[in-house]
Order: sequence, then C-alpha cells, then structure tokens
Amino acid sequence: MLCPECQGGTMSQSPTRIIGITGGIGSGKSTVSNYLADVYKLPVLDADIYARLAVQTGSPILSQIVARYGSDILLPSSTLNRRSLGEIVFSSPTERQWLEQQIHPYVRRCLETELKSISQQCSTAVLVVPLLFEAGMTDLVTEIWVVYCSPTQQLERLMERDGLTLEQAQARINSQMPIQEKCDRATVVLDNSSTLEALLTQVDKAYDITTVCFPR
Ligand code: ADP
Repeated sequence: MLCPECQGGTMSQSPTRIIGITGGIGSGKSTVSNYLADVYKLPVLDADIYARLAVQTGSPILSQIVARYGSDILLPSSTLNRRSLGEIVFSSPTERQWLEQQIHPYVRRCLETELKSISQQCSTAVLVVPLLFEAGMTDLVTEIWVVYCSPTQQLERLMERDGLTLEQAQARINSQMPIQEKCDRATVVLDNSSTLEALLTQVDKAYDITTVCFPR
C-alpha cells in the first residue's frame, strides 16, 4: 500500500524515514503497525510475513529444515509443521540460532527489495521486525520504536492470542533479548501496559514528534 501523502517523491533507494517497530513477542507491535497503516496510511513491511515465505513449500530453506529434522517436520500437506519446529527451536538455543541463520538473510533481502520498490512513492515506511536487534537489522531503519508491556501482560496476551501454554509462551519470551536492553536502544519507547487508547495516544505523539526530524 502506498502512502497518499508522499506519492510523487523523488527518493531513489529508500524512503527517507523508516520507522522500525520492535519489542517482545505479544507486546503490541502489530497493534501499533496496524494503527499506523489505518490512520496514517503508511506502508508496513512485516518481517514475519517474509519469514513465513522463506519456509514455504518448495523453498530451499524448507529443504534445509527437512534435511536437518527429517520429514516428520512436515504436515501431511507437505507444508511446514510450524508448531513442531517451534517446539524444537524454542527449547534449544543452538537449533534456534541455526534456523535464524537460514531465515534472517532472506528476510533482510526481502525488506531491502521492498523498501527500494516503494521509495519512489513513499517518504515514510514502517518495518515491523520482532528480532530487529537480534538479527542485526537496525541499519535498515532510521528510528526504532520499542513496544513493551509488563511480563505478566505479555504472557497472558501471548497465550490468549496464539493458544499457547504458559511454558510455551515463556519459552518464546525467554528466547528474545531482555526487553530492558531493547528499550535502552530505542528512539521511542511505547508503554503498552495500559489500555489500547493509551498506547495509540503515544503512537500519535511519536509519529508527530519524530516527524519534525524528518521533514518531507
Ligand atoms: P505483537 O505483534 O507484538 O506480537 P500484538 O499487537 O499482536 O503483539 O498484541 C498481542 C495481543 O495483545 C493481541 O491479541 C492484541 O490484540 C492484544 N493487545 C495489544 N495491546 C493491548 C492492550 N493495550 N490491551 C489489551 N490487549 C492488547
């Protein structure tokens, strides 16, 4: 989706302002990016979508996964059994690192290509990258917004949204960089431990304040 505000821009490589949204799993990243897309009509590139494409049927990365874990990692439909893979990688840092080494370069290439392709039309874009720091992708963005909520809220929201047990949700949270480290490296910290309205008010402010630094 193109941003109506910036159609006709003259950028050749990348939008001028690239907001990178990150934070813990289940902290509210999609909630923020959906709002930016709906209200400000900003184009949103979601790393999770490319990470899913990376392992689609017939992809070289899916072949690597099958070579490593056997064909039991596939569903009867020959698509990846994401739940089984999740069990493996969220209980073994070594396996998680191996998988990320396969997927992150693919995701980075997709994001770079997509940024280039929208650069003629949009001066501002949003990247949602859950592992922005862990995957070393901070160079792709011009500012970093970290969304956080309390550990209890994060666990509850994650279990509710993804139908996970407490242990499964905790394993996913534990696999990520501690949220305080992410907040320390943020341009903007968004506190999502209250209501949705309170979060979106902060988003409006962050969008306006940092806009001053990125005049069109
Ligand atoms: P992320 O994209 O970071 O994984 P989501 O934006 O999907 O997180 O939010 C996780 C879940 O928590 C979703 O079901 C979302 O609707 C819910 N949620 C987000 N913010 C709030 C909030 N302030 N109050 C209650 N539920 C929330």
